Amino acid sequence: MKGARHLASFSFDIEDWYHSQLLRAHERHTHGETVVRAGTEVILDLLDKHGIRATFFMLGEVVRDHPDIVRRMVQEGHELGCHGMGHQPLWHLTPESFRAELREFRSIVEAAVGSFPVSGFRAPTFSLDRRTAWALEVLREEGYAYDSSIFPARVKMYGLPEAPVGIYRPSRTDLARHDPSGTLVEFPVAIGEWAGFRLPVGGGFYLRALPFALFVASLDRILEHRPFNLYLHPRECAPEVKRLRLPPVDAIITYINLHTVIGKLEHLFTRYRFVTMREVLEREGHLAPAR
Ligand SMILES: [Zn+2]
Repeated sequence: MKGARHLASFSFDIEDWYHSQLLRAHERHTHGETVVRAGTEVILDLLDKHGIRATFFMLGEVVRDHPDIVRRMVQEGHELGCHGMGHQPLWHLTPESFRAELREFRSIVEAAVGSFPVSGFRAPTFSLDRRTAWALEVLREEGYAYDSSIFPARVKMYGLPEAPVGIYRPSRTDLARHDPSGTLVEFPVAIGEWAGFRLPVGGGFYLRALPFALFVASLDRILEHRPFNLYLHPRECAPEVKRLRLPPVDAIITYINLHTVIGKLEHLFTRYRFVTMREVLEREGHLAPAR
């Protein structure tokens, strides 16, 4: 979109199908297929075709198993972020076990790429809410500069509907409130607003299920006021996804319109000017440029 006043970013949560909260009850060995590699390569090829740099929130397990993919990301100018080790939501962790995960993640990334160029975090299942607000302090102490784990709308499994929809600094005492002296920056995924109603348009299920014209109109409207960030998973971009037998609602959330994803990505990649999340935060004045 020429002339847009704000920047956009696309992020990918790099995990396999069995890491999804809706699917993990199904034993991994009920079918042995793994899609993380194939799906990530589809994403990287598409980004390369369009000359776009994106942010990849990595699971430590995936970095350990596919270090060559992580090296490709860095070589091609993408940003690495952290999505935890094995996709445990923060609800299941303590400050101590979370810190241990972040440190294990750091050592695995350093083994893969030789340094730790990571400043952003996204919690599995958007599990940062009032119960897990302690995580922000742990992130800061472990050297992170920004977070993208607060989902400012209420949906089936998560959400903090009273949180701001734009970039802000969560207060120590109330993570839904902006505090200019807050030490970490929060960059929530995209939420549209229509007549006072919050409509999630961050990606994933919403990209697949909503009428695409409404999805795009929501993003256009957001860009008039602030940057946005979108998210997607390798599972949603891999050409062959074997389907599990799921309860009807979970099946819809998981599988609806998977065949439309690549075409929609092609459209979005030409419509908006995407840069990494870190770059959005720096260029829009929320973070000082990295050295
Ligand atoms: Zn995830």
